[in-house]
Amino acid sequence: MADIEHDESGFTCECGLRNEYPGYVQSHWSVKLSYSCACHRQYILYRGTVVKTSRESQEIFDSEAFGD
Ligand SMILES: [Zn+2]
Repeated sequence: MADIEHDESGFTCECGLRNEYPGYVQSHWSVKLSYSCACHRQYILYRGTVVKTSRESQEIFDSEAFGD
């Protein structure tokens, strides 16, 4: 799996587009959030890590649902 270049304020998609995290990412740092780039690649943001999801049809993690 390719490493996604990222830092605390955003990440760079495989398409090369820099995505700044929306404001809710910081306030939901420990929650898995789904995020789609403008190119429709989809990622999971979780505790400052960025993981690309393999298919758009995969489970969507949303807001508080998986927080603990
Ligand atoms: Zn992209």
